[in-house]
Amino acid sequence: MGEDNAKKRIGLFGGTFDPVHNGHLAIARQAAVEAELDEVLFIPAADPPHKAALGASFWHRVAMLETVLGRSVLADDRFAISLIEAELPFPSYTVDTLVEIKKRFFYPKCYFIIGADSLLDLHRWYRYQKLLSLTHLIVVSRPGISLTTMQSAIKRLPGSFQPAESDQRWLRPDGAEILLLMNQLTKDISSTMIRSELRQGRAPEEVDLQVREYIARQGLYRNI
Ligand code: ATP
Ligand code: MG
Repeated sequence: MGEDNAKKRIGLFGGTFDPVHNGHLAIARQAAVEAELDEVLFIPAADPPHKAALGASFWHRVAMLETVLGRSVLADDRFAISLIEAELPFPSYTVDTLVEIKKRFFYPKCYFIIGADSLLDLHRWYRYQKLLSLTHLIVVSRPGISLTTMQSAIKRLPGSFQPAESDQRWLRPDGAEILLLMNQLTKDISSTMIRSELRQGRAPEEVDLQVREYIARQGLYRNI
């Protein structure tokens, strides 16, 4: 734990990445720029409790992330991958992952990055109140979910978040912070839509070319 680490602002980006797409990269990059993050750690979910079936195994999803972070024009040298959930008990609860990350590394300012759909669902996450005491949040909007809907969801969170100097930054008396970023993508991109295109034998343009080649080589997403 060096002096440098003590100053770091870190983004933690949990997701299933099944498969990783340009939307993931775009929001990671936007978060890094707008919240001035020194690093964004992608944390693929090993056994996500809220997903009934996965399209690809953990290690295939990791291989696709490694491929894209190593080469895509959208990638960034601030991006890294954490395999921590492979070591932790299943199912992979985000709150447990955060506890473990904070035990292993000293990051004074952590932001967990989520899309607006995850914000609306947050109150159903396992021990979400504890989660909010462990990390700040960056919420990126998603087409179909308005700013007003996002703000209402924040107001319903425990501990009374209030808008700070603008209605895109919310603070709680204990110092917890939520930054709202407006998505710069013009259309929604989701892994669900991409899996559906792959099932129909189409080549989804929102997936990196080398990842598409990996998917074809490994025969992924044909039946799911
Ligand atoms: P699926 O359709 O399988 O749920 P997904 O595209 O939502 O896949 P996830 O791996 O579930 O991808 O997403 C990880 C995180 O990234 C979630 O918090 C999600 O809200 C966010 N996210 C994914 N795609 C976008 C997008 N296009 N805009 C904003 N947030 C996104
Ligand atoms: Mg999702």
